[in-house]
Amino acid sequence: MKNVLVVEDNERNMYLMCYILEKMGHRAIKAVTGEEGVAMAAEQQPDLILMDIQLPGIDGLEAIRRIRADRTSAAIPIIAITSYAMSGDRERLLAAGCNGYIEKPINPETIMAELGRSLSGTAPAADT
Ligand code: MN
Repeated sequence: MKNVLVVEDNERNMYLMCYILEKMGHRAIKAVTGEEGVAMAAEQQPDLILMDIQLPGIDGLEAIRRIRADRTSAAIPIIAITSYAMSGDRERLLAAGCNGYIEKPINPETIMAELGRSLSGTAPAADT
């Protein structure tokens, strides 16, 4: 079981992400603003962070920068969840310090595959 911090302001997306994580046998830690995400990354030391980019207050890019700038959270892998995919976005996300990104709308299979890759040693739960 891994601890995964989900930073997401949209209730439906948060529900879906947590449902997928729990189905895969992981524990979801929830944050609904960038500021809260930055604080919980340092406090909770999750194994992975799923970071929405469009958030109230500081956006996901700024939150990623702050997480990377704090030595207690600097090494935690981050996957950005982004709803816009204009040219240059990928570069901006990677420059801010994220390890990968997933485009919205959230596809459960894509999320599970990415989580399987990112959480080494964990495979998606088998269909039952
Ligand atoms: Mn959002």
